Amino acid sequence: MSKKVTKKEEAPAEEAKKEEVKPPKVEKARPEKKKKEERGVHALYKVEGEKVTRLRPTCERCGPGYFMANHQDRYTCGHCGFTRYKQVEK
Ligand SMILES: [Zn+2]
Repeated sequence: MSKKVTKKEEAPAEEAKKEEVKPPKVEKARPEKKKKEERGVHALYKVEGEKVTRLRPTCERCGPGYFMANHQDRYTCGHCGFTRYKQVEK
């Protein structure tokens, strides 16, 4: 008969050392978060009856179908990195 091959030679207790005692979770009173922007493609369109309006500009470089991300002062394309600054009216 074949010898018993025990590949499972576990490292001696090293894993046990890693275990740290975590302090119990303390629930903090969080400041109210800002309302998060809607995620997903549905947030980019607005359907009015039979019309669809796109709520974000599309990338000039990539063409239609590539929406630009809405930032505070600019729009950016995640595809090519194109940035367009919003016209600030003063
Ligand atoms: Zn682009």
